Amino acid sequence: MSLVLSGIGVSRGIAIGKAYLLQRGLPEVTEYTIPRTQIKDEVGRFMQALDMARQQLKAIRNQIPAETSADIASFIDTHLLMLKDSALAEVPINLIRSRKCNAEWALKLQRDALVNVFEQMEDPYLRTRKDDVDHVVNRIQRILMNQEGHSQDGDGMPLKGRIIVADDITPADAVLMQHQGIAAFVTEHGGPLSHTAIIARNLRIPAIVGVRHARRYLNDDEELIVDGRQGVVLALADDSMLRHYRRVQSDERRYQTQLGKLKGEPAITRDGRVISLQANIELPDDVHAARRVAAAGIGLYRTESLFMNRSAPPDEEEQLQAYLTVVHGMRGAPVTIRTLDLGADKQIDGDRERALGSNPALGLRAIRLCLKDLTLFRPQLRAILRASAEGPVRMMVPMLSNLQEVMQVLQLVDEIKQELSRQGVDFDPRLPVGGMIEVPAAAIIAQFFAPHLDFMSIGTNDLIQYTLAIDRVEDDVNYLYDPLHPAVLHLIRHVIATGRDAGIPVSMCGEMAGDTRYTRLLLAFGLTDFSMQPATLLEVKSIINASHAGELSIAAAELSHFGHAEDIHRLVAALNRD
Ligand code: PEP
Ligand code: MG
Repeated sequence: MSLVLSGIGVSRGIAIGKAYLLQRGLPEVTEYTIPRTQIKDEVGRFMQALDMARQQLKAIRNQIPAETSADIASFIDTHLLMLKDSALAEVPINLIRSRKCNAEWALKLQRDALVNVFEQMEDPYLRTRKDDVDHVVNRIQRILMNQEGHSQDGDGMPLKGRIIVADDITPADAVLMQHQGIAAFVTEHGGPLSHTAIIARNLRIPAIVGVRHARRYLNDDEELIVDGRQGVVLALADDSMLRHYRRVQSDERRYQTQLGKLKGEPAITRDGRVISLQANIELPDDVHAARRVAAAGIGLYRTESLFMNRSAPPDEEEQLQAYLTVVHGMRGAPVTIRTLDLGADKQIDGDRERALGSNPALGLRAIRLCLKDLTLFRPQLRAILRASAEGPVRMMVPMLSNLQEVMQVLQLVDEIKQELSRQGVDFDPRLPVGGMIEVPAAAIIAQFFAPHLDFMSIGTNDLIQYTLAIDRVEDDVNYLYDPLHPAVLHLIRHVIATGRDAGIPVSMCGEMAGDTRYTRLLLAFGLTDFSMQPATLLEVKSIINASHAGELSIAAAELSHFGHAEDIHRLVAALNRD
């Protein structure tokens, strides 16, 4: 009999492949005494494990495609260097000798001592080294215990074609795993707006989150079917099920080929409204995906991934090179570079546990962090301005909540422009500076922001989180997540209308913009600029081209009178049917 587990489908598509269960955390280790005569062998066993860990990491490094961003390779280089460091290569050996203990125990003692030191450090970047220690120690421990194959990051394993089943996957892990050709993710935790979900959609990897106890019911190596649209995982499927899902898989491929034909077509409604469809990207390499669907530009370049999986932030030059890769890659189309949005679920090391404060989504994140730490912010502003000399760049500021922040950013941009001019460095003096409207306070007073900004972009992921008071990574409150909540729609409509009145462009770059269920509603609200993951762009275009914006606006007019979600859902379903 087959087993069906359900969760929330966050990235659609069908995957059929063998399960790969990821276990988190360090393995349990106990101490035992080694007789004096066997100490030498125990030291030898430890040294062999170190050597094997080194070989594994080198093999992974060689597998990374050349075009991958440098930070992913440097993540592995850091681990290789740590294996050579006396803290891991020598101290455990001394401990084996002095305590006459097993290698696993000696390594555990040294790990605890190192982690203790890192935890005391004030500097958040240095504190992140603790995770590197754990990753490396975990690898050696599993080799010593012959349990390798299921490390936390899974970065050394043959993941090609496998369906990863984990408690959770950090954005950093997701990026690493993508390079190993995984077929799908299934996680026990997480919500539709978590960055891992966004990355999965971006990478077109079918993904299901919130599958409770998935690792208890699913076994390593068993064949699974993942249906990312329906949010179900099937194990022990019989032949007829497999045949059905293979058919769905090939129908989906055919549909995608069909959509591919829209690439050269403009996005324009039946009544002639021209719509701009831009792409959201995470890595400079993603420009290829944006170009493959002929995106009109980059509406959101999330720069956080440049800062992830490393111990120190990238300097101005490194950032400039990344931004220029995008600018040159887009060949004259506009590129909207979002300033650093670190914090909450976007930790530099992907470690949610260390999210700052007890309420990280409400804490020192995004522009708040940047304005507090100008050593982080200034190099990025300089790099963005310098990149603007070589193509149409726009700068976008996340998580604005008051006018003071807007003024501070504009002041800083002015100062940096003057500095660059003094230094004879080129930049676009008219670089457009826009703000993300993703905090309800900003949406409500958008009319005060508009005169100071060149554009506004609605970040629905955070706007929904903050308006409905639901943590986007907290699965227990996923059921409250509703982009069609009347309060959310009210704010979206207000921001679009405010931009129109003030004469500045308003775009939307949250996930709602790329969700075909909402395309017609957004057209009805008068939205003309959408930015989304490249994977959904052509499907959204097909809906736009089959819609009549004027008729949609009339049909949606009564929406503002509805307070009940069901009425709104019914009306939106009607918009989508006609
Ligand atoms: C948003 O909040 O809608 C958004 C686009 O930003 P992010 O998902 O990166 O927080
Ligand atoms: Mg956001």
